[in-house]
Amino acid sequence: MKVVHTISDLNNELINYKSKSIGFVPTMGSLHDGHISLVQNALLKAEAVIVSIFVNPTQFNNTKDFNNYPIDYDKDLEKLDKENVDVVFIPKSAAEIYNNEKPIKVDLNGIDEVMEGVHRKGHFDGVVRVLNLLFLLVKPHYAFFGEKDYQQLMVVKSMAKKHFKNIEIIGCPTKRDQNGLAMSSRNLLLKKEDHNRAIKLIKLLEESKLMFQTYDHKSIEDYCMSKLKKFSIPEYFEIREIDCLRKVGGKTTKQRAFVAAKIGDIRLIDNIEIN
Ligand code: AMP
Repeated sequence: MKVVHTISDLNNELINYKSKSIGFVPTMGSLHDGHISLVQNALLKAEAVIVSIFVNPTQFNNTKDFNNYPIDYDKDLEKLDKENVDVVFIPKSAAEIYNNEKPIKVDLNGIDEVMEGVHRKGHFDGVVRVLNLLFLLVKPHYAFFGEKDYQQLMVVKSMAKKHFKNIEIIGCPTKRDQNGLAMSSRNLLLKKEDHNRAIKLIKLLEESKLMFQTYDHKSIEDYCMSKLKKFSIPEYFEIREIDCLRKVGGKTTKQRAFVAAKIGDIRLIDNIEIN
C-alpha cells in the first residue's frame, strides 16, 4: 500500500494503474467498519482501490466541530493496509488540494436545500468543492459513498450526472454497531452516558417505519420530534422520497425517514428506508 501526501506523488502513483479500473473511497479518516465496508465494496468492483483521508475544512459550518474532528492516521493506515488498499492519499494541507481550484457551479435541483442544507449552511458547497477536486485528481471509474449520509449520496449522484458522467456513484448500506447505532467517527466523541441516548435515534426511526403503515406523514414527524426532545436537541425528523428528497403526501413512492439531533454536544444523523 502506497501512502502519498502531494498531488505530484499521487499522479506518479496513478501511472501504475492506467490500464486498471479504479474504485475511489473519499473519507475524513477515523476509520470504522462503515468506512471499511465501502473499501470492501470497492475492492470487489474495481481492480485498484484508492482511499483519501482529508478533513475538509470547507464542508464544516462550525469551527468547533472542525477543530474537534478526531484524527488518527496511524490507526487508519493499519486498517487500510489490512484490506490491501492500493493507494492512500492524505493531502499534506488544505492548500495542497485547493491551490489550483477551478470552481464549478452545480445545480443540485434543490436536493441541497433541505435538511442538512438548512441546518449546516454551506456544507454541501464544501462537499461538492472537495469532491470536484478529488474526482479530477483520482479520475476513478467508481466512487463509493455511504447511505449513512444519504442526502450527501444524492448530492454526489446529482453532481456526477452533470459533471462526471464517467464516474459511477455507488451507495453502500449503513453499518451499525450491535445496538443499531449507525457507525460514525463522531461516536468517538460521545460521552459514555450519551451512548444510550444515541441508540434511541435508530429506535425512533424504526418506530416511524411501523407508524408509516397507519399514520400520515405529519403525525409521524410531529410525534417523532416530540419524542426526540425528551433525550436530545432535535434538528429535524423528516420523511422524504428516496430520489429527489421531496416531501410527498402519498405512500406509493419509496420513502426514507431522516433524523438529525444533538446528543450532548455531538450532532448525529441517521436515516432508514420506511416502505
Ligand atoms: P466521512 O469520513 O464521515 O466523511 O465518511 C466517508 C464515507 O463513509 C461517506 O461516504 C460516508 O457516508 C461513509 N460512512 C460513514 N459512516 C458510515 C456507516 N456507518 N456505514 C456506511 N458508510 C458510512
